[in-house]
Amino acid sequence: MSDRGAIPPFVLTIFGASGDLAWRKLLPALFDLHADGWLPGRWAVIGLARSPLDDVAFRARARDGVARFARRPAEDSRWSAFAERLSYLQGDYADPAVYAALARRLRAFEAEGPERIHRIFYLAVPPALTEVIIARLGKAGMVQDRTCHRVVIEKPFGHDLASARALNGSLRRILAEDQIYRLDHYLGKDTVQNILAMRFGNAFFEPIWNRQYIDHIQITVAETAGVEHRGGYYDQIGALRDMVQSHLFQILCLIAMEPPVSMNAEEIHHKKLEVLRAIRPIRRDAVAAWAVRGQYGPGRIGEEPVPGYREEPDVDPRSNTETYVALKLFVDNWRWHGVPFYLRTGKRLPVKVSEVSITFRPVPHRAFPEAVLRSWQPNRLILRLQPEEGILLRFQVKVPGPVMRLEPADMHFLYQEAFGDPPPEAYETLLLDLIRGDTTQSLEAAWVEAAWEVLQPILDAWAAQPPEDFPNYAAGTWGPPEAEALLAAEGRSWHPPTLLERRAEGR
Ligand code: NDP
Repeated sequence: MSDRGAIPPFVLTIFGASGDLAWRKLLPALFDLHADGWLPGRWAVIGLARSPLDDVAFRARARDGVARFARRPAEDSRWSAFAERLSYLQGDYADPAVYAALARRLRAFEAEGPERIHRIFYLAVPPALTEVIIARLGKAGMVQDRTCHRVVIEKPFGHDLASARALNGSLRRILAEDQIYRLDHYLGKDTVQNILAMRFGNAFFEPIWNRQYIDHIQITVAETAGVEHRGGYYDQIGALRDMVQSHLFQILCLIAMEPPVSMNAEEIHHKKLEVLRAIRPIRRDAVAAWAVRGQYGPGRIGEEPVPGYREEPDVDPRSNTETYVALKLFVDNWRWHGVPFYLRTGKRLPVKVSEVSITFRPVPHRAFPEAVLRSWQPNRLILRLQPEEGILLRFQVKVPGPVMRLEPADMHFLYQEAFGDPPPEAYETLLLDLIRGDTTQSLEAAWVEAAWEVLQPILDAWAAQPPEDFPNYAAGTWGPPEAEALLAAEGRSWHPPTLLERRAEGR
């Protein structure tokens, strides 16, 4: 969301600095911002974790991450100017002495100049540590300045409605809401942000963006990956909590929200929250008609054989955790009443793709004879969020020739073609917003709780009735047959992602 306004001086303290997120995402993104000249004159990073590292080892680890994952090359001079800002503090997250040492280091940096230094505390640690770290920061008086002191928490935010409320309650005792950044990195992706640009920067979408013209909407976030090295974590969480509660609901809100009066954070948050509050509650005894769960068994991704979920490292061999979810939702307001929103996400699906497909209603009267319309398809607008980010519009054209025959044709916009450079990493945008205090991309407490409220009946019903058919889809397929049935009952079907259609047609 940032424009190139003032970027204030800051100290970024990373809790869990020895971990994967810091190594793979945060430090490379910060390096790219440094290389592209976004960072101010005064800034520093303090890496904090239990691992026995020193400044030299921490910098070496950071350099490795930057070399592998940053967009910009780490040439020696550019790297040294970056590395000298990084330092490491070893200690236990519950030990008050660590916070005293951190406070000394922060005060020493702040005393070096007259500017107000923004303190950002980034919790790149397992969620179980969130409350203890924030309590210690509060007790040490390190987060007292509401305008300059901020704390970043990565998703997941709780694991159900009650735990999310409890977490928000304990954060509120120490921090003001606008000091808390609940981060879902999906929101930092350029193409997700582009949903706002597309909907509210153009005149011609809004008049048709409603129940009068739209038949239904599908949101697909498909991964080919399994659980990789995160089996232990994922087995406690599952697809509904990991993906639907955050990523898919965010996309749903951006697609369904009312036009904002301005792009300020409060207004965007409010409009997104309205969407969640308008979602028709799912009755616990009717969950089976609205939600489908699945778990992958052994199969193939492309040519490669892959194991089933229950055979993955650190996964319980009798696990009932879902790796696939399909949902039908209704947004009960004037704009969307009666328009189904179908959401699906899963691991070990045939292709990695995230897209939103908006299917329009047919023309009110088909003047053409049946024979002309054999290949007719409804108009569709497809927003592809990744990969090959772009927008595709599908409409009917006349097939060239002496007789009238209609066929669907596609109009394509691809970011890479239009702008060349790939978009920045989500974490670059998010870090910049964070440093500037722009909370637009952060998830507010009320939104997080409203999202859990929608899903709680499903969590309850699924917990009460363990699945009997897991695994119920083979790796490399599009999920369990019940997911097809969810749409087929209404005469619809899931659209194959356009990426696959294009590949099949050799385009
Ligand atoms: P890691 O498992 O790599 O943990 C980060 C650090 O936390 C570790 O290096 C470790 O440092 C410290 N730690 C403290 N207690 C424990 C514990 N009981 N088990 C494991 N580590 C512990 O996690 P990530 O860096 O992958 O993720 C951090 C947070 O960010 C999580 O909440 C995750 O869900 C979220 N996240 C991560 C993403 C990623 O790409 N990695 C993407 C999106 C969100 P030490 O032992 O030195 O103290």
